[in-house]
Amino acid sequence: MDVINRTIERIRLEVRIRVLTVASVTDITPHMRRIRLAGPELEGFRSPNHADHIKLFFPADGKPLPRPERHPDGLVWPDGTAKPLMRDYTPRYFDPEALTLDVDFVLHGDGPASSWATSARVGDTLMIGGPRGSVIVPEAFEWYLLVGDETALPAIGRRIEELPADKPAIAIIEVPEKADEQVIQTSAPVEIHWVHRNGLEAGAQNLLLPKVAEMAFPPGVGYAFVAGEAEMNRSVKAHLLARGLNPEYIRASGYWVKGEAGE
Ligand SMILES: Cc1cc2nc3c(=O)[nH]c(=O)nc-3n(C[C@H](O)[C@H](O)[C@H](O)COP(=O)(O)OP(=O)(O)OC[C@H]3O[C@@H](n4cnc5c(N)ncnc54)[C@H](O)[C@@H]3O)c2cc1C
Repeated sequence: MDVINRTIERIRLEVRIRVLTVASVTDITPHMRRIRLAGPELEGFRSPNHADHIKLFFPADGKPLPRPERHPDGLVWPDGTAKPLMRDYTPRYFDPEALTLDVDFVLHGDGPASSWATSARVGDTLMIGGPRGSVIVPEAFEWYLLVGDETALPAIGRRIEELPADKPAIAIIEVPEKADEQVIQTSAPVEIHWVHRNGLEAGAQNLLLPKVAEMAFPPGVGYAFVAGEAEMNRSVKAHLLARGLNPEYIRASGYWVKGEAGE
């Protein structure tokens, strides 16, 4: 009998700091802005998994950020540099030929990352770091579950596009309103269920959990990716565990905390 290898592998990647230039700014839906970053420093960029993240660096004092040095304990900023603000974002598309990287920003109205994206113009610069690691999920599962709010939509969209043609997936995605739904190209049999907040505030509205609870899962062993507001994330993970999913096959990440700035 064949033994199916469903080992999840964690790999380290070389951390590099890159200074990139905004090449284009496109509103793909009312609350999501795609910013294409470009530059020769993208040479060698790697992001093997849809759940990878890069760090975006923003000056805390409005002054241009000098380049940090990499030390074994982390980044060391030149003397006198105010500790930059850092936020995690998903590499949505990387084009190794054109050396461009698309990052999709939720325009939620507050915070250095969202504010930067709101006012970004072609020619602006942005410093990024990473990804510093990646989790490799084998294609050996019978089905995949993808659950998240709009901050996870870049990761979920990428996963749906990258799925092999024979792998069924169920995606349950919360967005502000119908106009925020995205068309995601895939050759895999994917059921996408959109959940609209329709004016309710983002985060912990308990909208995703009931939708996940009413879903019948396909037979066989599944792998679940859950990401978004931390409280929602916890409740959905607890539900999946209660339904008997193997904890090793659930990746649940709090992408933001309602009422708290990222760090
Ligand atoms: C691995 C990972 C990948 C991520 N990928 C993406 C991505 O590709 N695109 C993306 O848009 N986000 C992504 N996020 C989420 C993003 O990092 C957070 O939303 C972050 O807090 C935004 O930073 P900010 O500076 O705009 O706001 P902050 O300064 O962090 O927060 C300011 C205030 O806004 C609130 N807030 C933060 N995010 C939201 C939101 N989405 N809606 C409503 N209120 C919010 C906070 O609770 C706080 O009260 C990712 C997070 C992680 C951990």
